Amino acid sequence: MAQFRLQNVEDFYEIGELLGSGHFGQVRELRERTGGTCWAGKFVKLRRSASSRLGMERKSVEHEVTILQSLQHVNIMALRDVFESRAEIVLVVELIRGGELFDFIAAKENVTENEAIDFLKQILKGAGFMHSKQIAHFDLKPENIMLSDKNAEHPEIKIIDFGLAHRFNPGEEYKSLCGTPQYIAPEVINYEPLSVATDMWSIGVITYILLSGISPFQGENDEETLRNIVDMKYDFDEHYFSQTSDMAKDFIEKLLVKDQSERLTAEECLLHPWIKPLTRTQAANRNRSSINLKNFKKFNARRKWKMSYNMVWACNRLCRLQLLCKTAKENEELRSCESDQEDTETKPASLIRRRLSSSS
Ligand code: ATP
Repeated sequence: MAQFRLQNVEDFYEIGELLGSGHFGQVRELRERTGGTCWAGKFVKLRRSASSRLGMERKSVEHEVTILQSLQHVNIMALRDVFESRAEIVLVVELIRGGELFDFIAAKENVTENEAIDFLKQILKGAGFMHSKQIAHFDLKPENIMLSDKNAEHPEIKIIDFGLAHRFNPGEEYKSLCGTPQYIAPEVINYEPLSVATDMWSIGVITYILLSGISPFQGENDEETLRNIVDMKYDFDEHYFSQTSDMAKDFIEKLLVKDQSERLTAEECLLHPWIKPLTRTQAANRNRSSINLKNFKKFNARRKWKMSYNMVWACNRLCRLQLLCKTAKENEELRSCESDQEDTETKPASLIRRRLSSSS
């Protein structure tokens, strides 16, 4: 079992503003008490007992830490330190101030394919580095692609959130139903062995959205989206792709391939003529083509709306759970005082479990 620092994180860092929230806790700015350097702290609540569904198991956090420790690359969020207390683990990581790449692009007036490629190259370099270490991220999506500093002349991409990442041992067969419907590859849905190529599918989806502002497999609901992915049901609708170069479409087509072994690797992508033009004509084509920014802005606005809706929904669920626990505790006290009957419908554990499973 990995040993983290058992001191109090607040003895070393001043805890500042909230930067973001995830399923398992909050991310806050940290200022080093000596020197004043700023970092980000990912506060992960630990699961209290094996039966609890709140919080994260220690071994999952340990897993994320081990992965981050082995990934030192300019396009991957760096880990500095880890603190542990009874209730939570705090990952001290590089502070990423530039927000999400998609928000940065959506705020622009015009973006050529060339500019989009500059960012894509960095995503590919980060992914290529992970993959060279046999690590797959398994949750590549716009929310996990951030920018170091959006005011810099050339903002740097930072890939975050290695909560679902996995390191493959030689010859290992690894299956998992993980990820986010829009971005997952067919092998995930079919519960087949996964590989680092699973990330390359997600990069194909991200590129498709970046250029057109539509999601290639989006259905009316998650079920339809998953069916579209398995059936490989996507096209390049001229209505959205009229400004897109043929080379960009070719690049996407070589990533959205059902057979993992046929998909381009990150290294091969970096050599694709859309990313690394071989001729002047190819380079000029990229400069003439632009992304469908009008539609991209709409996609991003919808995405942000959905994220805040999900956050409000999750908060409500937490409040309901807390309320239920409080009521359950009061009920228990009442029961121990006066009642000799037990109403199974108001048993706290059964109520909590039912609520969780019906809404997850
Ligand atoms: P999820 O719910 O997707 O599993 P999580 O609990 O693993 O999330 P992260 O995705 O790592 O948490 O972080 C949650 C949010 O916090 C991010 O979406 C981002 O907005 C913000 N964030 C994460 N890391 C940093 C960082 N290093 N610097 C600044 N903000 C960050």
